[in-house]
Amino acid sequence: MKGKMPYSSLIDKCMKRGRWEMIPITKPYFDEDEVKSLKECLDSGWVTQGPMTERFESLFKEEHPCKYAVSVSSCTAALHIALLALGIGSGDEVIVPAFTWITSASCVEYVGGDVRFVDVEAGTMNIDPEKIEEAITPKTKAIIAVHLFGCPAKMDEIMGIAKKHNLYVVEDCACAIGAAYKGKKVGTIGDVGCFSFHPRKAITTGEGGMCSTNNERLYCKMLQYKNHGANPVKREEGYGKPYYMGVYDEVGYNLRLSDIQAAVGIAQFKKLHLLLEDRKRCAEYYMEKLHGCPHVILPAAPKGFGHTYQSFVILLKSGDREARNRIMVEMQRQGIQTRPGTIAIARTEFNRKKYGLLDGECPMAEFCEDASLTLPIYPFMKPDVQDRVLELICRAMA
Ligand SMILES: *Cc1c(COP(=O)(O)O)cnc(C)c1O
Repeated sequence: MKGKMPYSSLIDKCMKRGRWEMIPITKPYFDEDEVKSLKECLDSGWVTQGPMTERFESLFKEEHPCKYAVSVSSCTAALHIALLALGIGSGDEVIVPAFTWITSASCVEYVGGDVRFVDVEAGTMNIDPEKIEEAITPKTKAIIAVHLFGCPAKMDEIMGIAKKHNLYVVEDCACAIGAAYKGKKVGTIGDVGCFSFHPRKAITTGEGGMCSTNNERLYCKMLQYKNHGANPVKREEGYGKPYYMGVYDEVGYNLRLSDIQAAVGIAQFKKLHLLLEDRKRCAEYYMEKLHGCPHVILPAAPKGFGHTYQSFVILLKSGDREARNRIMVEMQRQGIQTRPGTIAIARTEFNRKKYGLLDGECPMAEFCEDASLTLPIYPFMKPDVQDRVLELICRAMA
């Protein structure tokens, strides 16, 4: 595979003898708790979905009050089974913001549906509720509301539109564990919430995800789809204990989270508030120092929107993609990782071809992709490290 850097040398570049040589875009926080929890799991001999997964789901439900939590192998898996459970399929349309991670839309393709892209707002970079209704057709079945970078989407407006047009709402909370919208935890407002525990997010299990819902029917369906299609309620009678044959009345997948991952997740969960608080402190430090910088638009956090800053993403006012890329190269040269915010998904090759989309379809999303720059942020980042990032970013922008 020409041109592809093996993971080992990528990691070598970032770390030297366990110390980060570069200032990374983010880094997970682990301590003895994860080791202890993992040891408990390994010692028990039970490593697939089991007691650890159950505890992990319980901790999740305490944080995001909902009746049911379904752990899965990723947020992508969560979105996939959410749409399957809602019965979305061929001929159905789903509304997705045009600036988000690619899976917010890929999940619609998995189930054979079609995506309708809706542009985002300048400030929060989330879906613009005022543009949703013009994208609704008789085929529309659902809205995927993404809480991008940890900033909740405008859920009151979205839920109002969904109610009026009889649409489901799936919350893509991949970036937003612990975030609240007007006092309500994300993932408990729409029909299903989908969370990620990828290392770029606030807490991690390596890979992992969670679905939240208050709907028992959706809960049962999601359990079924993540576990080979085994009906979670029906079992073949007649055998009795110790063994029941499952009833497989749907085609399912294996999208389970393992107890090894859940063991890490349990330890991570216990620190969630501490980690989020410190992330917020880092974000506020950046905000304070960048306030008044003539070249940038800072991330918006409207009143009542509990931004958790999974990523700290600024926008270059110029919207000049080439200039942004030059800044990223210069920062990398100076030992600081930066990244574009995320993707203007209506512009991907796949979506251009499938939907016949042209440039300019969703101008704000395109601006956000071209102009966005993610600065390093992680809990317990030292102020002098943030100062170095700030000094170099300001110099690179000048
Ligand atoms: C990270 C992310 C996902 C995907 O999460 P995985 O757990 O990596 O599958 C989905 N949506 C958004 C908005 C994300 O940022």
